[in-house]
Amino acid sequence: MVYKSSEKRYDTMLYNRCGKSGVKLPAISLGLWHNFGGVDTFENGRAILHKAFDSGITHFDLANNYGPPPGSAEEMFGKVLKQDFAPYRDEMIISTKAGYTMWDGPYGDWGSKKYLVASLDQSLKRMGLDYVDIFYSHRFDPETPVEETMEALHLIKQQGKALYVGISNYRPEQTKSALKILNQLGTKCLIHQAKYSMYERWVEGGLLDILGSEGVGLIAFSPLAQGLLTNRYIDGIPAGSRAAKADTFLNREDVTEEKIRQVRQLNDIAKARGQSLAQMSLAWLLKDPRVTSVLIGASSVAQLEDNLKTIQTVNFSGDELKRIEAILAG
Ligand code: NDP
Repeated sequence: MVYKSSEKRYDTMLYNRCGKSGVKLPAISLGLWHNFGGVDTFENGRAILHKAFDSGITHFDLANNYGPPPGSAEEMFGKVLKQDFAPYRDEMIISTKAGYTMWDGPYGDWGSKKYLVASLDQSLKRMGLDYVDIFYSHRFDPETPVEETMEALHLIKQQGKALYVGISNYRPEQTKSALKILNQLGTKCLIHQAKYSMYERWVEGGLLDILGSEGVGLIAFSPLAQGLLTNRYIDGIPAGSRAAKADTFLNREDVTEEKIRQVRQLNDIAKARGQSLAQMSLAWLLKDPRVTSVLIGASSVAQLEDNLKTIQTVNFSGDELKRIEAILAG
């Protein structure tokens, strides 16, 4: 099958400026953490990627360790890039990261310059790219001086292996020092990638304010709390869902009665708004102008299609917001 992207791909998506930068990101971006690895069905992942790009999703997020096995999501994406997306490379923002365990020994983890530089070289090979658009330090390293990690990002940008750099999972104080060092080096931090959803709100405790005032974008990962904030678990844990699978970061025990009780109540509000719960959960994040994009995952084209409809209704009434807060407060 020869892939040709839809001519209507830019007709409906919203694009938000990423902090104070020249880059706009789609309100909805797609991550390849799960469902695109060597253990997954290639054609399913490929169909999701096609649907995403055909619908205006121009941003695809990877990391060295995505799979499983680690590295296989980048290989999968590289294959699709080569066979289908090659004519569209310049219409895409492709990101990758290093910071979690990737290979044995002291140089395959955390935040040293040795690890970050070598890891990006490997990622570029796996994806068949000359450069990525964004390269992230995936997590703050308490042992490596933050100056070294930021110097690595600066070097990578200077080498042209990444056009922009970002940080992920850095707490407010860590973010402040990272941004200061990057500014001194003359490399601006484009974006912070942080876990943010109705169920995970740590970014509201200072990080969003720092990013807003520094002109750095925020991309919210796991915005659906890995599927909890959708109708996926309303009637139990389906076979094949993330919570049912081994070796994922969502366990059966995370799907608590308490959570499902809240999910049912949230679902009632979503229904009254004419939305699915997934759509309302994403819209709830996008209502804050400091949130550049929500970084979703999807295991099927149908889920992606559901999530894409979010942008039809992103506004909330004051009353809806109050009722949501009351539900979340228990
Ligand atoms: P989500 O919170 O969007 O969860 C995605 C999962 O939710 C899907 O796999 C699917 O679960 C379920 N789902 C999605 N849409 C629907 C729907 N409409 N109806 C029902 N169920 C739905 O995000 P992820 O946790 O997957 O994370 C997204 C991306 O964020 C990652 O791919 C990665 O790029 C990034 N990330 C970054 C991290 C970091 O440290 N920087 C850490 C984690 C993620 P199911 O598989 O059960 O069908």
